[in-house]
Amino acid sequence: MIAKLVKNPNAAKVDELLARLSEMGVKGQLIQGGAAMVIAIIGDTTKVDQDFLHAQDIIEDVTRIQEPYKLACRKIHPTDTVVTVGGTAKIGGDNFAMSAGPCSVESREQLCTIAESVKASGATVLRGGAFKPRTSPYAFQGMRDAGIDLLVEAKRQTGLPIVTEIMDISQLPLFDEVDMIQVGARNMQNFELLKELGRLRRPILLKRGLCATLDELLMSAEYIMAGGNTQVVLCERGIRTFETATRNTLDLSCVPVLKQRTHLPVIIDPSHATGKSAYVAPLALAAAAIGADGLIIEVHNNPACAVCDGPQSLTPAAFDPLAGQIRAILPSAYRY
Ligand code: PEP
Ligand code: MN
Repeated sequence: MIAKLVKNPNAAKVDELLARLSEMGVKGQLIQGGAAMVIAIIGDTTKVDQDFLHAQDIIEDVTRIQEPYKLACRKIHPTDTVVTVGGTAKIGGDNFAMSAGPCSVESREQLCTIAESVKASGATVLRGGAFKPRTSPYAFQGMRDAGIDLLVEAKRQTGLPIVTEIMDISQLPLFDEVDMIQVGARNMQNFELLKELGRLRRPILLKRGLCATLDELLMSAEYIMAGGNTQVVLCERGIRTFETATRNTLDLSCVPVLKQRTHLPVIIDPSHATGKSAYVAPLALAAAAIGADGLIIEVHNNPACAVCDGPQSLTPAAFDPLAGQIRAILPSAYRY
């Protein structure tokens, strides 16, 4: 990290700052250049708050050289992380994972029918929401604990590991048999929740917030990893833009960017990104081609009657050929 000093800085304040930096466990080295004086801050700068530096009147500008996320950082940990979900589904490295299932768990019959069909089509993880983050408090809020029970039942029936969303840490006791815990877009910066999930040793599917930058997504992953839980899968699910033709805008360029910045697996959710079933297949294929580590796709046996996200749900009949097309693309997908 480089802090550029103002012209003729107060020498006592410079000494004070150097002492503070040393207390923070980093070394501040004063360098007198031709045009300006800078302090090069050397060591583990993750604990140095940039705002603290900006608040000093002897400092004109601060530039970070090292990423503030050191556990998620590719430069520090060059090898791809491979996350194993439920002992069977691997995500990352050379492993592509296909998650599929309904937006919301609605009934035993609905979930088991969908689970059997997506498994037959090649899905490796079953998705389904039990706790639903809905914009309206009057909309269906999910089957909650009964929904989790049905997911566990579907897992026993099909052998597919399950992923479902947690909205509050008080729900954690219900998640004992959940193989991968999802943090939804709206909770990406619920730092207390992230810290608690960091204490677990179970995979976390971290979805990108609607208005979050990729570095903010990585800092949220860092929250989980800082607690010792290194099994984090990142998910791009579309961001808010000015475009209204789709529910969100799928930021596919996140894949090469994240692949460069982090060793964590990156998966794509084309369902929430587009909001329309007709656009799911083309974007799912594009995600596979660009080298994503997996997909999470909403599938419903009767989209017209789905309690949530019917318009973006594929039927099992549409998911099956898509899964085949994805498998066909993978051998020639871009590799990082
Ligand atoms: C979901 O996956 O069901 C969901 C609500 O996703 P997101 O948090 O991306 O909106
Ligand atoms: Mn949904």
